[in-house]
Amino acid sequence: MAEEKNGKIVKVAGPVVVAEGMIGAHMYDVVRVGEENLIGEIVELRGDRASIQVYEDTVGIGPGERVINTGAPLSVELGPGLISNIYDGIQRPLSALVEAQGSFIKRGSQIPGLPRDKKWHFTPTAANGSDVRPGDILGQVQESTLVLHKIMVPPGVWGKLEGLTEGDYTVTDKIGVVKSQSGDHVLTLMQKWPVRRPRPVAQRLNPNKILLTGQRVIDAFFPIAKGGTACVPGPFGTGKTVVQHQLAKWVDADIVVYVGCGERGNEMTDVLKEFPELIDPHSGEPLMKRVVLLANTSDMPVAAREASVYTGITIAEYFRDMGLSVGMMADSTSRWAEAMREISTRLEEMPAEEGYPAYLGARIASFYERAGRVVCAGTPQREGALSIIGAVSPPGGDLSDSVVQATLHVVKVFWSLLARLAQQRHFPAIDWLTSYSFYKQYLAETFEDKEQGAAFVEMTRQAMALLEQESQLIEIVRLVGAESISAADRLALETAKSIREDFLHQNAFHKVDTYTQIEKQHDLLMLILRFHRQALAAIEHGVDTADLFALPVREDIARAKYIDYTEADKIRGIADLIDRQIRELYSAVTS
Ligand code: ADP
Repeated sequence: MAEEKNGKIVKVAGPVVVAEGMIGAHMYDVVRVGEENLIGEIVELRGDRASIQVYEDTVGIGPGERVINTGAPLSVELGPGLISNIYDGIQRPLSALVEAQGSFIKRGSQIPGLPRDKKWHFTPTAANGSDVRPGDILGQVQESTLVLHKIMVPPGVWGKLEGLTEGDYTVTDKIGVVKSQSGDHVLTLMQKWPVRRPRPVAQRLNPNKILLTGQRVIDAFFPIAKGGTACVPGPFGTGKTVVQHQLAKWVDADIVVYVGCGERGNEMTDVLKEFPELIDPHSGEPLMKRVVLLANTSDMPVAAREASVYTGITIAEYFRDMGLSVGMMADSTSRWAEAMREISTRLEEMPAEEGYPAYLGARIASFYERAGRVVCAGTPQREGALSIIGAVSPPGGDLSDSVVQATLHVVKVFWSLLARLAQQRHFPAIDWLTSYSFYKQYLAETFEDKEQGAAFVEMTRQAMALLEQESQLIEIVRLVGAESISAADRLALETAKSIREDFLHQNAFHKVDTYTQIEKQHDLLMLILRFHRQALAAIEHGVDTADLFALPVREDIARAKYIDYTEADKIRGIADLIDRQIRELYSAVTS
């Protein structure tokens, strides 16, 4: 750490404090502001005059008070103790803060991110005497029943490994040492990393594997890749919370990092209440055993909100570096952007559109660029993935909003939640006409059976074509009435309805329906489209559409999604029923 240099406050403007005499300071140095030692970060430097964004309430702080430069950038502590924790935007554990100080968090609190008293059992896997380099796995700690935490050589450390010993350690105890010509580096279970700098990787790979979610509208139509990026707008009451919970529970990720950037104050409190109650469906254990939660309520200072997204992504990258699949959710990035805007205004920067700073787009892009599928640094060789799902909440749901537009420029998936669908109780309320995914080309490879994969992709294409046809036909029917359209068009309408109700619609609260294996998604679509194909042939031979629509097998198709996939044969049996019942109608007409 550099030598401490003190400056003096000359001005306080909300979350921004200006100090003079900050000799030798650097951009993004962390400083302690005023007699109460509030935590802040230098965001602008002109000579020895620094503008500082303060992560705590600046009320009562005034000119003349001192500012101490720590000489270090804003960093997070990475190591055992992250999992299950609930942090504020600068990694202060909320539960520990509350315990230590009652429910009012005192300003200037210095409770470390990782508990200092807790001991972890460390089992080495690397051999003493070997040459190690950054990212090499040294050993492991069973952090929770669901997370085996790999302890890695920190970035920037090379040399000969010595004295690595099995034992019970706190995060600051010495577990071994790396010797090199430039000196000894003492190894601990913990490492630190500056939040605004992406953690190094060996190689970036194309995200070309689908991250399955078990949510049919997502997996089949708008899939996200492992290491991919998605954006979801969340107008109030559209089921955004349920979508997020479903993703957190079911997404094929080892770790979930959830950053809540204060919506309305009580909304975040909901997250704090709800997440600890969620159960991990795979293990039956509390979901929190593989979750790290960051929470900023709207009554927390904006600067902390600005930082929380970086704190979150750095924690997510750290788990990715272990070779894990990590899902990060940020809700809502609009609140993050607003925090940026407020700081920018206080800095008297030239505003661009809607008052946001000109660098808004660049900041959003560089955040999403930290997602990816990678070859992790170090040995043994391993792949990690960090997928980001960012919620946006534009005022009035207006998608032309700057934050939404800047986000859509960089993300590869857009799940458009519609208030109208939610009002119709169509959940998840993801609009099939305006949503998109650029990862669909990888969908076929998700299947073990290549032919089944190809068939599935073709079926999703047909289903989407029918849904698009439906939206056009609805217009025509509205103009000229239902009688005027052909029998084939009537069937298209009926099939589209079946796709919506029997496939896209998914009940998050139903034991079986809450999650659908990709193979089952294949079978469900197959039934709907098989009925369509057979019915179309029957119509051509003079069968009446009303008779087709009244066939009892249609009820079986509708209920197929509730059949547990351990009984897959039952679902496939419905295909035979379709054939038989339509054939009967057909022979009644032709005989
Ligand atoms: P928001 O967070 O957008 O305000 P919620 O996620 O709380 O909305 O959803 C509102 C209500 O909609 C829920 O309480 C639930 O009844 C219903 N809902 C949302 N999604 C689903 C779903 N996938 N399955 C069943 N019901 C849902």
